[in-house]
Amino acid sequence: NLTQRLAGVMKTLRGEARLTESNISDALREVRLALLEADVALPVIKDFIAAVKEKALGEEVIGSLTPGQALIGVVHKEMTQLMGGANSALNLATQPPAVILMAGLQGAGKTTTVGKLAKLLKETQKKKVLVVSCDVYRPAAIEQLKTVAAQAGVDFFPSSTEEKPEAIALAAIDWARKHYHDVLLVDTAGRLAIDEAMMAEIKQLHAAIKPVETLFVVDAMLGQDAVNTARSFNEALPLTGVVLTKLDGDARGGAALSVRHVTGKPVKFVGVGEKLSGLEAFHPERMASRVLGMGDILSLVEEARKGVDEEKALAMAKKLKSGKGFDLNDFKDQIAQMRNMGGMAALMDKLPAQFAQAAGQLQGGAEDKAVRRIEGIINSMTPAERAKPELIKASRKRRIATGAGVQVQEVNRLLNQFEQTQKMMKSFAKGGLSKLMRGMKG
Ligand code: GDP
Ligand code: MG
Repeated sequence: NLTQRLAGVMKTLRGEARLTESNISDALREVRLALLEADVALPVIKDFIAAVKEKALGEEVIGSLTPGQALIGVVHKEMTQLMGGANSALNLATQPPAVILMAGLQGAGKTTTVGKLAKLLKETQKKKVLVVSCDVYRPAAIEQLKTVAAQAGVDFFPSSTEEKPEAIALAAIDWARKHYHDVLLVDTAGRLAIDEAMMAEIKQLHAAIKPVETLFVVDAMLGQDAVNTARSFNEALPLTGVVLTKLDGDARGGAALSVRHVTGKPVKFVGVGEKLSGLEAFHPERMASRVLGMGDILSLVEEARKGVDEEKALAMAKKLKSGKGFDLNDFKDQIAQMRNMGGMAALMDKLPAQFAQAAGQLQGGAEDKAVRRIEGIINSMTPAERAKPELIKASRKRRIATGAGVQVQEVNRLLNQFEQTQKMMKSFAKGGLSKLMRGMKG
């Protein structure tokens, strides 16, 4: 699997001082296989590997970084780049209503995403939102949107199977304008496979309503097949963005790379659950970590299994699985275990970037000292505070800082870092736990 392959990459390159044509070619073969397993489409992998090779050649191996780490670093950076670098937000800058058209195959998650997006825009941007269904083939689809709109607490423009999609959408725009809606979300029909009639219909609809955003909704579980669907939709419509759904399942996220590569359009959101709250802004860097970093956590756990404290690692995995989350007690245990495993330097090897950062933004020889300070701060907290860090308000922070002999800012920094780690652990719990468990039993 991906983990073993990346571990192999690290091993292959250990002890070399520089990345060269000869020492990276084996490693890149492993990266290629890893990406194939992550369901990235072949032509995308080819271009990607070529780009990584070009960047990696001659890259100096600085300080304590091994060539393996340096190469993974290049892969991570390149992958982040390929997925757009930074998050790309919705463009709603137009004369209201800002019309957003949803396109995609049946079952991709369009109707659900309309509900999620409506809720998000209403709650986080205080927009007045109207939704309308142009799925005139299935009365149940219109009913579904009505239900979703009620759940999201937004307005629903009724339509019927007797009408034409453009007529429905134009009437909805008119209504939205008269009732001062900021945003109109237009849901559409999809087929099980791409067909001419569907493409013609949505092109016509697009031309009639001139949306400011045309979002292609695609199921991440489609893996490589997402490429063909994305290409067809991208040729038929001037897409402005992509929503990648069902990333809460087993999908490895390879589709994010493929779809971006094929369409050149940014993934703007990811769907992470059936509930209306399950929509998140897409962050290329995090996705690259997901595709690459999960394995690093696994090898960390494996290391723990071999030498130090299997029971604790197992308890941690169980805890993650039960959804109880990762608290400061766990954070402290992890730091203690890291120390047992031979100091931070050895471990930086195995940690995904954010995790390493969360462990104290450590560099050079200051690592162990920084770890001791973190332990000092956590030791100054009560068990209740460690279990529920949100309890820690200003006066408690002052008490903890005094107890640990540090500044309040350092306590704040630790809490922020912990929060980030906790978020990451949650996403591992959702996406990668079965793998994690398997790795530990194996
Ligand atoms: P549409 O045909 O494109 O409108 O797709 P729907 O919105 O009806 O969704 C199809 C199925 O996928 C439904 O069962 C949804 O609950 C489910 N679904 C949609 N988005 C997600 C997601 O992000 N995660 C999960 N797990 N399920 C989703
Ligand atoms: Mg639908």
